[in-house]
Amino acid sequence: MTPVGVYIHVPFCAAKCPYCDFYSEKYSSELVKSYKDAVIRRIMAYPYRTAVDTIYFGGGTPSLIPEKYIEEILNALYSHFSVKSLETTIEVNPKIVNYNKLSAYHNMGINRLSIGVQSCNDKELAFLGRKHSWKNSLETIENAARAGFENISCDLMIGLEGQTISSLRNSINTLVKLPIQHISSYMLKIEENTPFNCESIISRLPDEDAYADMYLFMVEHLNSNGFAQYEISNFARPGFESIHNNKYWQCKEYIGIGPSAHSYFNGKRYTSDINLEKFTSSENAGYIITDDNPGSYEERLMLGLRLKKGIKISDFPELDKKLQRLGKEMLKNELIEIKDDVLSLTAKGFLISNSIISSLI
Ligand code: SF4
Repeated sequence: MTPVGVYIHVPFCAAKCPYCDFYSEKYSSELVKSYKDAVIRRIMAYPYRTAVDTIYFGGGTPSLIPEKYIEEILNALYSHFSVKSLETTIEVNPKIVNYNKLSAYHNMGINRLSIGVQSCNDKELAFLGRKHSWKNSLETIENAARAGFENISCDLMIGLEGQTISSLRNSINTLVKLPIQHISSYMLKIEENTPFNCESIISRLPDEDAYADMYLFMVEHLNSNGFAQYEISNFARPGFESIHNNKYWQCKEYIGIGPSAHSYFNGKRYTSDINLEKFTSSENAGYIITDDNPGSYEERLMLGLRLKKGIKISDFPELDKKLQRLGKEMLKNELIEIKDDVLSLTAKGFLISNSIISSLI
């Protein structure tokens, strides 16, 4: 039995960030308790007692809920599944966790933190409407290391108002000197139903060329500072690539629990009830199959080409012909690399990965 990952979705945030369209609810202690009880019910009623080797608490803001609830959820996972977790991650927000909470996480067996730093520049954080400052992030990183964490990831956003290569260089230079091992870097994307989707915000963002320059600079600067790119948006010191997230890109199976959590298990993709009320009130129903034949050519190609190591051309029977037609031009423009049987995208290729992938599909 190949072990799977478990993703627990914690749908609570202290306040809604104006650029974010993730499903989340405002914190209330009653709601959080009934959410936690529902998660445990669903775990204990899960129809398969499969082997699990990674656990990931994501959100929302998992660090907002009491740490004893996280421990109860972990205990339910240990009792229902056959867990030998190589990597147990929790996403935390600076200002919301203190040393005691981080220490409690470490003592309950969580061995990886993903910290929502976003930027080391307070002006950029204010633009994003984040409630924390760089000082709060620094304290969180230092407290995490003091609590014993040796696998710390920080989120970094690019494409922000006023952000330049110089401010990005400062953020990277600051982060790489700290005891962290992983950086996830995301471009600010304007989502449709968010307050950021308006001309007054969009007109203040860097244009496409400036964004491209920042991305290429970031890849080069992180690589030369010991954080090798292993995925379009992810960089790690050797041996610290995320085991859990790699499952998504490698089309491996995982179980998602929580309102709006997705799963890929037993050969099917499915989702649970989107809303918290339904999730907490129903006993165990509410799984909706979204794909009963996952792992298609397109899906594997799309996910595999997000990875720096790329894909094996021989695993994709129609690819060879497409590369004979389109590959020369892509190689000339330094968008792809082909070594023996392996096709991968370059940093320049990652910038336009969607159009490269659709031309190969
Ligand atoms: S960005 Fe994170 S903290 Fe902000 S609303 Fe979205 S999930 Fe919550």
